[in-house]
Amino acid sequence: MKVHSLNLDGSTGEGGGQILRTGLALSMVTGRPLHITRIRAGRPKPGLMRQHLACVQAAVAVCGGRAEGAELNSQTLLFTPGEVRSGDYRFQIATAGSCLLVLQTVLPALMLAEAPSKVELMGGTHNPMAPPFDFLERAFAPLVRRLGVGLELDLKRRGFFPAGGGELVAHIAPDPQALAPVDVQERGPLLDAWGEALAPGLARSIAPRELETLGQRMGWTFEAGQLRQPPTRQNEGPGNALLATLEHAHVTEVFCQLGERSLSAEQVAKRLANEIRTYQRSHGALGPHLADQWMLPLALAVWRSGRAASYTCTEVTLHTATNAQTIALGLPLQVRIIPVERAMRVEIAPA
Ligand code: ATP
Repeated sequence: MKVHSLNLDGSTGEGGGQILRTGLALSMVTGRPLHITRIRAGRPKPGLMRQHLACVQAAVAVCGGRAEGAELNSQTLLFTPGEVRSGDYRFQIATAGSCLLVLQTVLPALMLAEAPSKVELMGGTHNPMAPPFDFLERAFAPLVRRLGVGLELDLKRRGFFPAGGGELVAHIAPDPQALAPVDVQERGPLLDAWGEALAPGLARSIAPRELETLGQRMGWTFEAGQLRQPPTRQNEGPGNALLATLEHAHVTEVFCQLGERSLSAEQVAKRLANEIRTYQRSHGALGPHLADQWMLPLALAVWRSGRAASYTCTEVTLHTATNAQTIALGLPLQVRIIPVERAMRVEIAPA
């Protein structure tokens, strides 16, 4: 039987790398070849960057696929997937590309496989424009586990952009019988909240200044354990990340601001406090990043089980809307986005 290829226009909506990653994942799980044109046309430097090539190469490895046009700056890719093979993988991502974005490219295929996989990744763990490790571990992975998929993440060493050098291991334990979608409508009561500053290899004053400003804005104190400076591991850094974790009964959110040369420690903390406040003002269960990343794993569970599911989020970014469009092209699903009181609801149902 002829399989229709999945044709994606990489300039749609956001016009960024997510269309490529979601496209690769959809191609692997459906067996449909992926033909993507105008890759990252919405970005100042369009085409495949090293970071995106690493995702293509990881996809090729996981399913024994073929990729034409997998070159730096290429704006067209034809990816022909093979059969997904669970097992042990090791991906080294050059120039501090994000380990987490590579993991999110292959996770959809491996979470639907028959047997467990272990994926070791080396590269960046705290990169601009990418989920930081802590977000995947505390916010994303627990939701994936609620679908009935085992997902454990083990951080060996942090790697900050641009130096990289981080390392993590993901253990993925699928259970096709247990796979089922879940609704996440409410975040539930706040159980715990804290901030933490990572600044290995940088001036000692940075982390305490960030924490102090964050504490003033949020009413958090060192004494109550709400402001933390976790120990750094050997060979970490240089780099800076200020994180906030909000543990609610039904969902945990992690917000992150990375330090930049041109930003003071106080400005980094103010940005993070603003992000937290925006989340707190809404009734949505998931914040903007979790809302775009949760859509694909949930869609796969809906597709496989034939049961609809939904979640609420604080806002639907262009990123989330673009992901919704891509998913609806790749799977026989409908994704509806509906405004509700002080939130947005995303509904995913069989078409
Ligand atoms: P580009 O096309 O510029 O290369 P990209 O492929 O690097 O883009 P995007 O397409 O912008 O990246 O996708 C980045 C992903 O990282 C999105 O899923 C976004 O939600 C996520 N992300 C970015 N910042 C954070 C953050 N602070 N916390 C969690 N997730 C984040």
